[in-house]
Amino acid sequence: MKIRPIILALTCLFSTSATFAAAPLPESAKGVPIPKDKGYFVEEIKDGLYWVTEGAYTAMFLTTGKGVIVVDAPPSFGDKMLKAIADVTKEPITHVVYSHAHADHIGGASLYPKTAHYIAHIETKKRLQRMSDPSRAFPYGMFVGGKTVPLPSITFKESYTLKVGNQELTLEYKGDDHEPGNIYIYAQKQKVLMKTDIIFPGWTPFKGLAIAEDTMGYLKAHDVILSYDFDKLVSGHWGRLATRNDVEIQKQYMQDIQANAGKALQTVDFYAIAGKVGYANTSLLFETYLNAVSQECANLTEPKWIDKLGGVDIWTKDHCYKVIMAIRVD
Ligand SMILES: [Zn+2]
Repeated sequence: MKIRPIILALTCLFSTSATFAAAPLPESAKGVPIPKDKGYFVEEIKDGLYWVTEGAYTAMFLTTGKGVIVVDAPPSFGDKMLKAIADVTKEPITHVVYSHAHADHIGGASLYPKTAHYIAHIETKKRLQRMSDPSRAFPYGMFVGGKTVPLPSITFKESYTLKVGNQELTLEYKGDDHEPGNIYIYAQKQKVLMKTDIIFPGWTPFKGLAIAEDTMGYLKAHDVILSYDFDKLVSGHWGRLATRNDVEIQKQYMQDIQANAGKALQTVDFYAIAGKVGYANTSLLFETYLNAVSQECANLTEPKWIDKLGGVDIWTKDHCYKVIMAIRVD
């Protein structure tokens, strides 16, 4: 007798699935097919440089003849990364590069050999040291399946050249964007660049400009990426590699958001809104105003982009809000 209300509630949930409707996804938003038996996809891009995805995150590794260099360890496929490497080489992992300190990209590194060299920007090391503080309310990475990772044994401020066997990676820092310490990882021989959490090929970026800590730095990073001579970009998300064209497209989308955020700030009338809402509740007044500005920016942006990138109807307003706040205070 007690089961019936639950079944009814479930039926109700499924019958209202239209609530979750969104714009159709363009073809460019589709990632590579993931083999069901393995749960990951691994492919050589060129000359011993491989990329790996489980459909949501991307990472890469290189065989060098003298050991494997692996870049990042998304906990969503940390164990699969070891299998993907074993699929193509018997070389052990000797070098690990962290793109940045976020647990969802490196929280699986506890599975890598402790004896390897761990390389990252100096700020990434500082952040990882802070995050290993046992008095924190929640341990590092606990909500993304990660745990404490080895601290970088080699750090740098501006650039570092990593040469192992027949491979070379140039690691460079060009200023704050997504997170201080988020580096450019460049394989010149293969013309492959890895830069995480800026470009989402075929999609609008993750919510809030992919939680960028520095909005203006995030926007500028599009040009910095394009200043490298690369054919393929390992962008960290979602399930495919990015091309120069993907970066150009996202840059144009971001330029539109900036232009429309500026227009909305000029056209949405704060005093008209204050006339209706009143000044007594400042939180309500500013929430109503900023929501109206963000909505206007989204209304101006979405029609042009809705059939070009996945998720435009979901997150454009949120990107607008982030850019509007940066225009107001940065
Ligand atoms: Zn990140």
